[in-house]
Amino acid sequence: MASIFSRIIAGEIPCHRVYESALVIAFLDIAPLSPGHTLVVPKRECEFLHQLDDASAAALGEALPRVARAVLAATGATAYNILQNNGAAAHQAVPHVHFHIIPKPNPELGLGIGWKPGTLAAPDGTALAERIRASL
Ligand code: AMP
Repeated sequence: MASIFSRIIAGEIPCHRVYESALVIAFLDIAPLSPGHTLVVPKRECEFLHQLDDASAAALGEALPRVARAVLAATGATAYNILQNNGAAAHQAVPHVHFHIIPKPNPELGLGIGWKPGTLAAPDGTALAERIRASL
């Protein structure tokens, strides 16, 4: 079944579109955390970021700063977060890759983050980085 974002891209569901290219669309989030909360979405539907094809990934990389500049100019915000969730356990509700651009105009609005930093022992870092490099 097509994702709700694919249905928006197909024109079956309305949206407040702010940007469109051959491979990417951006529109306002329907339940914004702050004014200007925007979603940047590859037109080709896939669930997770790591499944993206290179052309869609490149198009997203081009679109994100461009749309972010426009959101900042339109809202007057100077701080913002980029959020990209993968998997229900990581708070992904719509199984179609999307980046949130979330202005942070003041402490009350925008994204709240619970960040509990751990520690990285040098030997663990060496081993883990080696495993990741070997998987590239
Ligand atoms: P996530 O939890 O990262 O999957 O976020 C999904 C986002 O999609 C939420 O912020 C929703 O408010 C937003 N959303 C869901 N349906 C629509 C829609 N029809 N138009 C715009 N945004 C939507």
